[in-house]
Amino acid sequence: MKKIAPDYMYINCHTHNFRQIDNCITIINIDASNTYQHIDRSHLLSVGVHPWHIDDSYTEKLDNIKKLTQESNVIAIGECGLDKHRGPHLSIQQEAFIAQIDLSEKLQLPLIIHCVKAYSEIIKLRKDIDPSQAWIFHGFNAPIETMEQALKYDFHFSLGHSLFNPSSKASQVLPFIPNNRLFLETDDNPQLTIQSVYEKASEITKTNIDDLLLIINRNYKRLFNGDT
Ligand SMILES: [Zn+2]
Repeated sequence: MKKIAPDYMYINCHTHNFRQIDNCITIINIDASNTYQHIDRSHLLSVGVHPWHIDDSYTEKLDNIKKLTQESNVIAIGECGLDKHRGPHLSIQQEAFIAQIDLSEKLQLPLIIHCVKAYSEIIKLRKDIDPSQAWIFHGFNAPIETMEQALKYDFHFSLGHSLFNPSSKASQVLPFIPNNRLFLETDDNPQLTIQSVYEKASEITKTNIDDLLLIINRNYKRLFNGDT
């Protein structure tokens, strides 16, 4: 593997895998139902209630998010969001999502969003709420028109495994995503390495890896370390 300057790490914006990788900053997603004791404080974490896992006890999970975010290694709220293919009725999903948007604002932590067939609803929410925190569509795989619509409201986009399918919407939209809105991720795919995602993104955008690292490191520092 290529050696990179320590200032430029591979940023993996969203994964469920706890494996530590050299030269890599990884935001590991945990569900808020995990108990406090299970949290490994050496990892950077996002904590949320996934729309698939919203049940009658989700308000307890929201309390758990508040508890967990007292730890400095929790740097984002999520993944949370809306899924029209799976999970409880959309109105319940929306209620839980809005509660997590509130937490993201109160705790001043960016929001990592799971979205299936609900881009217009989520874009409208950001338009109406006008939050101060960044919102990142993780696993973004939607047409250019959706990306452009979301850009009007300052969304960020994290792309991953869909880039390996040349006919995917993700592959087609990637070259049009502005540099300062872009992240890359492996999500829950155990075979995928973050390095291979950067290589694929570099090939699609015709940007060399070092430039891509610089671009995404800047975005990471701006959103998660408070740099401007
Ligand atoms: Zn995920």
